[in-house]
Amino acid sequence: MNDHYTPVYSHSSLNMKSSAIRDMMKLTGNPQMISFAGGLPGPEAFPLEELKDIIDRTIAEHGSSVFQYGTTEGYTPLRESICDLMYHIYGLSASPDNILVTSGSQQALYLLCKVLLNPGDAVITENPTFVGAISCFRSFMAEIHPLAIGNSGMDPVELDKKICELIIAGKKPRFIYTIPSIHNPTGITVDNSRRKAIYSVASKHDLMIVEDDPYGMIRYDNKHVVPFKNIDTEKRIVYLGSFSKTVSPGMRTGWLNAQEETVRRCTIAKQGEDTCSHTMSQFVIHEFIDTGSIYEQIERVKKIYRDKRDLMTDAIDRIIPSALYETPGGGLFLWLKFPENINTMTMHEKALKRNVAYVSGNSFYPGQGGENEMRLNFSFSSPSDIEEGIMRLGEVIEEESAKQ
Ligand code: PMP
Repeated sequence: MNDHYTPVYSHSSLNMKSSAIRDMMKLTGNPQMISFAGGLPGPEAFPLEELKDIIDRTIAEHGSSVFQYGTTEGYTPLRESICDLMYHIYGLSASPDNILVTSGSQQALYLLCKVLLNPGDAVITENPTFVGAISCFRSFMAEIHPLAIGNSGMDPVELDKKICELIIAGKKPRFIYTIPSIHNPTGITVDNSRRKAIYSVASKHDLMIVEDDPYGMIRYDNKHVVPFKNIDTEKRIVYLGSFSKTVSPGMRTGWLNAQEETVRRCTIAKQGEDTCSHTMSQFVIHEFIDTGSIYEQIERVKKIYRDKRDLMTDAIDRIIPSALYETPGGGLFLWLKFPENINTMTMHEKALKRNVAYVSGNSFYPGQGGENEMRLNFSFSSPSDIEEGIMRLGEVIEEESAKQ
């Protein structure tokens, strides 16, 4: 008899890797550490007073139902106000029947994968792409086929070529996963004409596009881009939205906007996941949209992050001139490229010793790549920590460069 029981883990569990970013969340507990690693909103960006008032009001008005289980599809008034929000911001029309409220948009992606993917299925992603999406696809044993994005997004000709190759190999992709607005990690945005060209390729091969859009509403360069969903005449887009960056990630509220059959199947999958999303969060976010407060909040958040972005880019220009970047038009992140001799992965330990954290570029590549790149978050740290953290990072880079 064994004196220690060792569970037999599933193939899917063995295929999963822990996210470098989630692992690094632990670092934020160390008060000495300046963390540019996680995707945390700035603490000052949360509308605390307003949320407190809404919570009090909601409990006074709705009583015990605020603490009750809700329907799996989500609180109907919230589904309606999500439609209003998307119409107001993007001019996008949807019916509440097209909306499933989820526990963050991460869950929306997970449910979608659950209803679409069998082990070994091919998925096309951008290269680099969101770490949480890579984890999700791996957990469903999908084959990830990344496509380079440069500064403009997937090249439609290359996309077409890739799909043809996969079809010839008997692996028609199940969908194309894209973060077209303020891409995580690179911050790039795909312009409207390229969106149309990518949509045409998807249409030619009869493919679904999964449009992940947690940052599109916090675009501060006023560039006019419309979601893929706005040009979706064939109902082949599944749009994923989130309140994590506009209101609060701790309220774990996101949504999926898709054709009714996809919503129905994801709802059934959700019944076996978490039954329903957080009831109180749904009441509160509904009220926050319904009173119009969300629009002022979005403007506030944009201003806070634009200022912090400028502080960080200014510090980098002064302190780490070897770092190259495209100024992101919104969002929470800066994507840096260094000369080839800088390896952000091996350098990481040294940075942590100096109490500064970042995410190495390779975490965002499903295959090889990103060794001389890194993602920095500018939304979470205070202005003085942004300056100090970039100083620390500059010392590490200088040391690393001198070593070569
Ligand atoms: N997609 C992308 C591209 C993200 O960056 C994030 C958050 N970092 C998510 C989805 C998940 O967001 P949430 O689950 O908090 O809504």
